[in-house]
Amino acid sequence: MRTRFAPSPTGPLHLGHAYSAMLAYDMTTKAGGEFLLRIEDIDQSRARPKWEAQIYDNLHWLGLEWPEPVMRQSDRMPAYHNALAKLEGMGLLYRCTCKRRDIETAVSAPQEGVEPAYGPDGLIYPGTCRNAGHRDRNAALRLNMAKACDMLGNPVLEFSETGPAHKGIHRITPDGLIHRVGDIVLARRDMGTSYHLSVVLDDAAQKITNVIRGEDLFNATKIHVLLQTLLGLPTPTYHHHRLIRDNTGKRLAKRDDARAIAKYRGDGACPADIRKMVSLQA
Ligand code: GLU
Repeated sequence: MRTRFAPSPTGPLHLGHAYSAMLAYDMTTKAGGEFLLRIEDIDQSRARPKWEAQIYDNLHWLGLEWPEPVMRQSDRMPAYHNALAKLEGMGLLYRCTCKRRDIETAVSAPQEGVEPAYGPDGLIYPGTCRNAGHRDRNAALRLNMAKACDMLGNPVLEFSETGPAHKGIHRITPDGLIHRVGDIVLARRDMGTSYHLSVVLDDAAQKITNVIRGEDLFNATKIHVLLQTLLGLPTPTYHHHRLIRDNTGKRLAKRDDARAIAKYRGDGACPADIRKMVSLQA
């Protein structure tokens, strides 16, 4: 068993992250497996060395260990570009120049009264640029989902889930991918890659067998399984865990400094107190 904790260094490590990291660590060590750390810093406009340093410091303080060197996504751009070139070679990508506002306008305009559909990445892309033939090198790259499913022979894809809320085998139909996920962005214009593409390539490169992460990413897993299939990569077992919420029931956000592990440490908490706060065994 090989797992990973993959934080983005864009804010303080808070209780929700600590829970995710400790749960993955506990499950892995219990199984005699290996726990890895990966720094997801593709968003260089938001990633900061100070947050990365705080991640290492807090995770060590919590008692977690991992092998060095740690994989950092910012070092992996050639791997992401290779995969994009492969998908482009398969004729599955197109350039998209739409801004968020363009997409909102396009989905709200035609049928009034019909609720716009949302997928794992927000509004489902209406396909405006699909056949536009844009050549702009600075445009985003989208996956033509219908074409991707067709190229694979429209199979029903599967993944197995061990998390409490969705335990079992999950089937992903081409229809669901086309209509409830849509043409997702695989390379953002400002990044040259995307969370979905990078996470899939990195999990494969790190030979991750079990992905343990928050329930908020459950629907994104459908995208990840599709990308694994297109790129010929193995599909790990998934475990989506409950989210740690604040007293009002809202899930903790990156900017939720009040729940930062650094804050609890400053107030004199010990690692066992943190474990208690998120209901994990000491
Ligand atoms: N960097 C992602 C996050 O912090 C990790 C998601 C994942 O584990 O796949 O939400």
